[in-house]
Amino acid sequence: STIAIDGEAGEVRIDPPADVVAELEDEARARKERLATLRGRATEPAVTLDGVAVEVAANVGGPGEVEAAVGAGADGIGLFRTEFLFMDRGELPDEREQEAAYRAAAEALEGRPLLVRTLDAGADKPIAGLEQEPEANPFLGIRGIRLGLERPELLGAQLRALCRVGVDHRLRIMFPMVATTDELAAARAALEEAHLQVGDERAPDGNGAESVIEIGIMVEVPAAALMASTLAGECDFFSIGTNDLTQYVMAADRGNEHVAELNDPLHPAVLRLIATTVEGAATRDRWVGVCGELAGDELATPLLLGLGVRELSMAAPAIAAVKHAVRSTSLDDARTLASSALACATAAEVRAMLASS
Ligand code: PEP
Ligand code: MG
Repeated sequence: STIAIDGEAGEVRIDPPADVVAELEDEARARKERLATLRGRATEPAVTLDGVAVEVAANVGGPGEVEAAVGAGADGIGLFRTEFLFMDRGELPDEREQEAAYRAAAEALEGRPLLVRTLDAGADKPIAGLEQEPEANPFLGIRGIRLGLERPELLGAQLRALCRVGVDHRLRIMFPMVATTDELAAARAALEEAHLQVGDERAPDGNGAESVIEIGIMVEVPAAALMASTLAGECDFFSIGTNDLTQYVMAADRGNEHVAELNDPLHPAVLRLIATTVEGAATRDRWVGVCGELAGDELATPLLLGLGVRELSMAAPAIAAVKHAVRSTSLDDARTLASSALACATAAEVRAMLASS
């Protein structure tokens, strides 16, 4: 059978008639041509029509992906998912192996920022070499920073590897799944200890300007979004993980196809949490990025900018189109668009509004 897939619309057609195939092929060609044009400017900075620079970065799973990301136009790495170093193997990578991986990524960036997320194991990211007790609800159990704090030797080794790389590279460290100020304080204490252990006297202070390594958290748990103004006092930046934030605020498992419709990051409930995060961050002059899938959706770019997001990190192939969307955005218009979206009742309404704007 002939199968036609429209990945953008999420549609699969089995044995489509010839006129539909021709139409889809035309569309595919037009998309390819548009992308080729956009890629021509992908490595230039993304600046809005009103002159505000937006960092457009890439999500990677290892140092081997960095060069291609830079070639695709990445201004830096906005999310290094370190769990990939730990997956598909029996034993865990030791401190030296981790350091080599982070250093290779930093070096490939040639001065661009490298944002490394500490191990986000558990739930949808099982690690064979890590024994974890079975849990009835792993998404609500020991995952992300909860696991790191429960296994200080694991988090400590990772942080020491990072501190060594941070001595001579532009590094940001981000803790996943933070829900409370206590967790952030404990994670920061672990980082300070790691600094002392590697003999670097430049202990991080979390006060942006003075700190060498920037410290941030993923905003993935609604509690973190709601407490953003408090958490902002203890870190330098927030990166919103819309994949998890959406599943937690909608109470819809991100891997369960039966609730996929609920799992829409454009739902106004998610957008309101993004707005709350940005407001909280602004009280301390902290920057906010998005590194969930929504960041790579060019349709959502003006909305996210209008909500106050200033860094977007995504799969590398999306960078060219998102940079183009940034360059086509006026922040005044984007703010108006964002307030209309926040007043919508459904994700479908938001989507329709974005498509027609
Ligand atoms: C997210 O939750 O949006 C995110 C970027 O993290 P991950 O998809 O790795 O859980
Ligand atoms: Mg996540």
